[in-house]
Amino acid sequence: MAKRAIFWFRRDLRLADNPALLAAFDEADEVIPLFIMDDEIAQRAGAHRRSYLASSLKALDESIGGALHVISGDAVEILSELKNKYSADSIHSAFPFAPYGNELDAKLKKAGIELTQLGSSYAVAPGRVLKDDGTPYRVYTPFYRAWSAHGWRKPVAAPKNPTWMTPAKNDRQLPDWDKGEKLDLQEAGEAAAIKRYKDFIKRASNEYGDDRNIPGIEGTSRMSPHLRWGEIHPRTMLAVLGQNKGHEVYRKEIAWREFYADVLHNNPHTSRDYYDAKFKKMRYDKPGKKFEAWCEGRTGFPFVDAAMRQLVKEGWMHNRTRMVVASFLVKDLHIEWQHGANFFMKYLIDNDVASNSHGWQWTAGCGTDASPYYRVFNPIEQGRRFDPEGIYIKRFIPELAHLSGEDIHEPWSVIDGLSKGYPEPIVDHAKERLESLARLEEIKAAKPLKPN
Ligand SMILES: Cc1cc2nc3c(=O)[nH]c(=O)nc-3n(C[C@H](O)[C@H](O)[C@H](O)COP(=O)(O)OP(=O)(O)OC[C@H]3O[C@@H](n4cnc5c(N)ncnc54)[C@H](O)[C@@H]3O)c2cc1C
Repeated sequence: MAKRAIFWFRRDLRLADNPALLAAFDEADEVIPLFIMDDEIAQRAGAHRRSYLASSLKALDESIGGALHVISGDAVEILSELKNKYSADSIHSAFPFAPYGNELDAKLKKAGIELTQLGSSYAVAPGRVLKDDGTPYRVYTPFYRAWSAHGWRKPVAAPKNPTWMTPAKNDRQLPDWDKGEKLDLQEAGEAAAIKRYKDFIKRASNEYGDDRNIPGIEGTSRMSPHLRWGEIHPRTMLAVLGQNKGHEVYRKEIAWREFYADVLHNNPHTSRDYYDAKFKKMRYDKPGKKFEAWCEGRTGFPFVDAAMRQLVKEGWMHNRTRMVVASFLVKDLHIEWQHGANFFMKYLIDNDVASNSHGWQWTAGCGTDASPYYRVFNPIEQGRRFDPEGIYIKRFIPELAHLSGEDIHEPWSVIDGLSKGYPEPIVDHAKERLESLARLEEIKAAKPLKPN
């Protein structure tokens, strides 16, 4: 009798460089390719992520000749039913590493469902890179050195002449989540990921290091959604990077992703809680009208508002402006970083709990290598420096399209600046900066909390 295995696609919606998938084919003559649509994905994800995922699943399904089994419900029930129904000998998947996936694995184990697991979404699995004394790194630069020295395997090819099991009609619950007219999402899927990366590598010349800070140009790769859904493995990306300056900086960016995954793995509470516990004691304001204005891109600070509108339109935001809007929320509006992180998680198509929570904590001054709390981004100066002509701002804020690069960053200070309905600033940045520093002094004076 032909041997059968289930391959459970999770954060690895691809065929190439997928060692767990190869392992399934090594063991079986026929593989049942499965995606489980659980409540976490179906209900908690916003329209952007659902739409991106639907396209990614469609692309995966096409690449395996329409054999993808998509089943909605509880992973424990689905896996045990499918295994029995098809007398599958094994269930294969990659290791998840994010807290939600880990919890799910623990549930499966408790229910007696055994997984054969191999690989992860990282070049080096979180937890592997350790200091000489066996403890994990807390600072990026030494982590980067040790991570580079550790190295990673070469990419592996897609399975050759795979035999996929044809799904029963009931097991084809592919979502038809619509894009919606207002969304402007980038193309999903393995082929789109490879194409995007190829194009990027060609243009990632020596200038990537500078270009990556300018949100008005196509200066970054926008590979983050592809990495998030595992449409490409970082190992595949690292394998083709050379030694030129742009590629070196890019390797370091990929390493930030690996670093944050490692930090979260070693400190699971930091997905929602403070890495530096003393910031728990800080005085914060409750999210109210000002928070709403931040979410809706109506703070009256053009660089902040353009970024928030980019997030809502594209399900993605440039890294420079992620830092600026995060600093604005925490240090100008005095709202705890978790509120902003949740809003990001709802909209981002690259939502990643490790990079998101630690990106927020870095900016809020309470994370690893944190940008010190007293470094408060000036939203006006950041705009002048990184979007001098206002190209980025004009792309997302039509109410400011009539202004020159000189005037656009402080529209309230020119006669017709607010004539097209753009709002007045909701706060005085200079005043809020001082307020923020005063609140810092309060926690400095307080008795330290026990570290987590
Ligand atoms: C407040 C905040 C929240 C963030 N939330 C997320 C998130 O949910 N998901 C996410 O993938 N990234 C997040 N980031 C990191 C970063 O902003 C994005 O990875 C980056 O903007 C993605 O665009 P790109 O692919 O064009 O980047 P590129 O400049 O082309 O970089 C290539 C890759 O390197 C990695 N990378 C680059 N910068 C960082 C960084 N600072 N931290 C971790 N990895 C990085 C990403 O995987 C990225 O795709 C966040 C940063 C901040 C400040």
